[in-house]
Amino acid sequence: MAPCIVSAAPQPVDDYLLLGQATDEPTPHRACNPAQLGERRQTLVIPAPTAGWSGQPQALDVFNVLAGEVELSYADRDICGTMSDARTRDSRFRAGIGIVIVPPAGSHDPLRVSWPEPLKKRWGPTLLMGAPSPVQQNDTARLLIRAACIAVALALALSALMGYLSARDRAFLGYVGVCTAFVLWQSVLSGLSGYPEPWLPVAWATAPWVVGLTAVVMTLFVPVLWWLNGGLRLWPASRRVLRGLAVALLAPLLVVPSMGWGALGWAADVLEAVYMVGCGVCLGTGLWAWSRGDRWASVGLLALLPFLLMIVADLLAARWLLAYRVELLQVSVTWLLMMAAYALNQRLGQLRAQRDELRQLADTDVLTGLGNRRAGLRQLASRLQSAGDGRPLVVGFLDIDLFKDINDRHGHDIGDAVLIAVAEALRSCMRGREDVFRMGGEEFLLLLPGCSRQQAALRLERVRQRVSEAAAGLQVEGLVITASIGLAQWRPGSDDLAALLRRADHAMYAAKRAGRDRVMDGEQLEAIPPRATAAQPADAG
Ligand code: GH3
Ligand code: MG
Ligand code: MG
Repeated sequence: MAPCIVSAAPQPVDDYLLLGQATDEPTPHRACNPAQLGERRQTLVIPAPTAGWSGQPQALDVFNVLAGEVELSYADRDICGTMSDARTRDSRFRAGIGIVIVPPAGSHDPLRVSWPEPLKKRWGPTLLMGAPSPVQQNDTARLLIRAACIAVALALALSALMGYLSARDRAFLGYVGVCTAFVLWQSVLSGLSGYPEPWLPVAWATAPWVVGLTAVVMTLFVPVLWWLNGGLRLWPASRRVLRGLAVALLAPLLVVPSMGWGALGWAADVLEAVYMVGCGVCLGTGLWAWSRGDRWASVGLLALLPFLLMIVADLLAARWLLAYRVELLQVSVTWLLMMAAYALNQRLGQLRAQRDELRQLADTDVLTGLGNRRAGLRQLASRLQSAGDGRPLVVGFLDIDLFKDINDRHGHDIGDAVLIAVAEALRSCMRGREDVFRMGGEEFLLLLPGCSRQQAALRLERVRQRVSEAAAGLQVEGLVITASIGLAQWRPGSDDLAALLRRADHAMYAAKRAGRDRVMDGEQLEAIPPRATAAQPADAG
């Protein structure tokens, strides 16, 4: 059967985007720095297979060289680079320093790798060799983990900053400082301080940077773990010890830039000892606090877990730890920061709850549960603000009649019960945006927004009736409860809070003078000559 040809001529394509152009720029190459790889040089020669190279491309990537330069050479190719020097590394590798070669089939030239003697024991490099694609994938995965850990730390710092702005608690600022120090330290450790362009002046001086930043991080790491494991709750005085430790760790920072390789290695060992002892002490404290019922210590123990695992693995020289040291360290630190953020947010929640409780207590009358004078005046001021845009507002000032007699005749306890019953009656009368407050003694303030004077007078008349019905519920023989209420309306433009309350109060006294147990409209009162009101019977009770 003849093949079916759909289209013989290639169709022109116009739906694509081509960026960049062909270049004649040579691959970046930097000569090795002799000061970095002098006498401390350690060299590994990787020989060709016995039958010679196959002719296929070979990749070699070197990770975990935390301080100093790495040199990779094959035949006449020679690559030098440091972790914090992204531009001069082979373009395929970002988390390590690597090379890709295509040795001729059957050739026997070896590959040579040199690195400076590690600052600390067991902190030697990890070398990965193979086809370029999987080696590069490994490098990319490492880069992603390193960048993600830094991104999480930055996100936590930002959210703590928001926490500080809303709660004004200095602990949040402290947390932001801890995150920032950890980000700087991680960026030097992972080489991201040079990616995509150098943004920290690390350059050749990686070793002093690593040691210096590790000292800073240790002054934060131990106190954070101590706090999370309940150390500060158990021994508040330990704050002073932590301060002393910070001074002891930070003071030598001044001489770090001038320290030689050997001294830096010694300082790194001391810092590791502080790290191990710190973890051990915090573990003991956390377990003790937890056994004594401090449930927050479990957060500290969880935060400590990955570090303990790494210490044990390090002692056993576990392969997975040697291969992924930087990544595991960064993930553990991110875990610690997350646990600290959790504890801090719990603290914020507790602070908010305490503040709300205090506010509630400060605004509430203990006996009746109504809002108190403070809350009443604040609510009235806010209602007056909205009444400013033309909405009517009426206030009622209520005073229980002859309350002293009730106390005298039936006892103080019954007096209290009357106050509670009256408050309950008043509360049950309120609807919508209306409010009632106990202003003190046997005096109450009622706010009736959105009511005209006539409507308010009717509503307050109903309130007065409900108060007089309250006695029935108390079942005290001979107990009569009545109240006098003065009413005043807000006059937009020419009024203020004090004048409004004064008018309501005057109206309430006018109601007393008129025989008690009634509602008196202050506005009508002003229309009557003062003498006429004074002439009303002074006491009906
Ligand atoms: P009037 O009708 O003129 O208002 O007379 P009154 O007796 O109600 O007024 P007066 O101001 O003379 O008395 C108020 C009393 O309220 C005096 C005070 O001992 C009592 N009192 C104030 N607060 C409380 C309280 O919390 N519980 C009790 N049981 N009595 C209180
Ligand atoms: Mg009174
Ligand atoms: Mg009274």
